[in-house]
Amino acid sequence: MKQWFATMFGEGSDVFSTFRPKRRVGKRVLINEILSLQIIITAIIGALAIAGLYWGGQWVLQDNYSRWAMQWTEELNELGAPLYLPNDEEAALRLESFIDKYPEIDRVSYYRKDGSILFVIENGVGVDSEQLIVDHDRLLELTSLIGAEAPYLVETSFLNARAFEIFAPVWTESIPGDGLFAFDLSTEPLDMQTELVGFVGLQLDFSLFHNQLLTNIKIAISILLLLLIASGFLGRHYLAKALTAISDLQQPIAELAKGNLAVRFKPAEHREISEIVEALETTASALGERDARLLRLANHDGLTGLFNRRRMVEELKKEIDNVTVNDSSSAMLFIDLDQFKYVNDTCGHPAGDRLIRKVADQLRRTAGRKGVVARFGGDEFAILVTNARRPEAKKMAEKVLVDMRRLAHIEGDHIFHVHCSIGITMIRSDKYDHDELIAQADIACREAKESGRNRLQFYSMSEGEAEKIVADVGWVSKLREAIDHNLFALRFQPIVQITTGRITHHEVLLRLKGENGKMISPDAFLSAAVRFGLMAEIDTWVVGRAIAVLAEYREDRPDLRFSINLSANAFEMDDLTGFIRSHLEKNNVPANAVIFEITESLAVRHLNYVEQQISSLRRLGCELALDDFGTGYSSFGYLQRLSVDYIKIDGIFVRDLVDNPVDQKMIRLIGEIGREAGMKTIAEYVQGGPTLALLAELGIDMAQGYFIGRPTAVPTNKSMPIPINLRHRTVSPQAGSDSAF
Ligand code: GH3
Ligand code: MG
Repeated sequence: MKQWFATMFGEGSDVFSTFRPKRRVGKRVLINEILSLQIIITAIIGALAIAGLYWGGQWVLQDNYSRWAMQWTEELNELGAPLYLPNDEEAALRLESFIDKYPEIDRVSYYRKDGSILFVIENGVGVDSEQLIVDHDRLLELTSLIGAEAPYLVETSFLNARAFEIFAPVWTESIPGDGLFAFDLSTEPLDMQTELVGFVGLQLDFSLFHNQLLTNIKIAISILLLLLIASGFLGRHYLAKALTAISDLQQPIAELAKGNLAVRFKPAEHREISEIVEALETTASALGERDARLLRLANHDGLTGLFNRRRMVEELKKEIDNVTVNDSSSAMLFIDLDQFKYVNDTCGHPAGDRLIRKVADQLRRTAGRKGVVARFGGDEFAILVTNARRPEAKKMAEKVLVDMRRLAHIEGDHIFHVHCSIGITMIRSDKYDHDELIAQADIACREAKESGRNRLQFYSMSEGEAEKIVADVGWVSKLREAIDHNLFALRFQPIVQITTGRITHHEVLLRLKGENGKMISPDAFLSAAVRFGLMAEIDTWVVGRAIAVLAEYREDRPDLRFSINLSANAFEMDDLTGFIRSHLEKNNVPANAVIFEITESLAVRHLNYVEQQISSLRRLGCELALDDFGTGYSSFGYLQRLSVDYIKIDGIFVRDLVDNPVDQKMIRLIGEIGREAGMKTIAEYVQGGPTLALLAELGIDMAQGYFIGRPTAVPTNKSMPIPINLRHRTVSPQAGSDSAF
């Protein structure tokens, strides 16, 4: 069968030879399978129909035999009776014409009462009349059939199932009586008298009909086979035609898989294929929309719709190549709004957002076709001015300053006039890469701020600055590698309650694993991490790792608590609390086992959202500490807004505490304010017993520093009573409490 199909349809039809998946080519051919099934089912139905026809025909024949047997014996009885009378020649003629009518009658033999032959008439070849003699027992049996319901005997030939012999008695019937009209048929019961006159034998052969039936069935089978073959070829033709529409989809689907979403599908005639085409078109357009959305998200700033930093870096890379190949020059402008925080602080973050959008629109208009504008985040923007030398760059920056000054933004009762500071660096070759160029423009912008804001400043590199930039750029790849290959490590420094010496918690400190197992302090790489936007990833790692370590040690030391530093980038995370909650839950660590430290300068710079993040973390159950307190800001006012649990006094006040009465006054004041505000105070950089004793006197609650304990790989659990009068013990003066990053 398989071979037959193979010859009939060929190995695999054209339709499917083109519709091949790339990796695994299926060996089965759909058309052949459908047709095989169709033909097998049709053949089974046809065979059953023919068998039914045959058996039905047989049954009809059998049924007819018995009816004909009855009829013929009656007729032959009548026709043959005169033969027993002398000189009835017409009887023979009548019999002849009778058997002429029925070709299946081979012979009719009439017997006398004693079984001897009286008369034989044949359709076929004659037979020796000696053989026709009926034996005595048969004669008796036949005689008893007179008047019976089926007055004949049927004998079937052993050799030929279609040949029969029918035997019947020939008898006469009479009504006894003395006169023809002496009875009334309607009133009197009939008393018939029968008289045996002889016997008749009828030789029948139905082979003719049977053969005819067989011939008809053979014809039917042939027709059926012809129909099967024809339907096979026709079916294949139409199936192939129908499936061509599917194979036509292969090319556009392959295009779609390659990412060509503009692919067109041929309209299909059939409903099923049309539905597939429609689904594919919907998929293509949904993919197109998703791609466009992703592309937009990847390249654009969500708030302003301007290019984001990532995209600007791409543009910058292209421009560096351009400038190098064409020996031309371009400029990079780094723009930071002046005192923008004021808008946020007075009218709220949404008002700040509205102003940022307005600034973005203005920058877009100002740059026009000459520059590519991007928002780097916060109130920082950049313009890449292509094909510009120093004068054109200056002109563009001045235009930005003028257009910004003209921009007035109204929020309720407030009118804000936007000023900005601009740092400019020139791109003249590929000597500096994109990161270095951004850093240069950033430095120039800071210089502009320091020189009084609302101005532009070209970048001019001093030796030291150049070295710093090169060093920072060098750190970028090392930090990337550290993030990717888990090259950071944590150290834990104890913080004790001064009066009892009991360890209250440990500060988590970050280290970078350097070459030869040397641990690098974050002072070395912190500025690079901030400048090149790697802090968020580092923060994420520190939080995750610290909580995991905490969970591990808390199994034996359930009182252990960690204090973890968070950078500004962490505080800019939309769902900082959710992120921390998930880590706490994952590690089964209660929120009150973690304290988060935020530097005072960061808290003050981003007061609005730091305030929100702090309350959200406190709601979660964590505690907060204000780090490096006392450096640079009018800090006490902010304390009212920031509801923290700890104030960490910057080491600058602690280092020379014993000898410096001003520091002593300052620390006493901080201690008092802390107590008033219900916050605990922690002194960092405690290097000796006298300092510790003095801190106790000044009312400070806790202490941290090399005198208390150095940072260790495993959080120490040596809770030691610290004698307050240890005035002569000191540790090396250059070491104090470690900076967190
Ligand atoms: P300076 O003149 O020194 O630039 O002062 P500034 O007030 O502009 O301060 P800075 O540029 O250092 O800080 C920018 C502020 O912008 C910090 C933060 O409060 C705010 N900020 C950052 N991102 C967003 C933001 O997406 N929307 C709003 N409304 N404010 C933001
Ligand atoms: Mg600013």
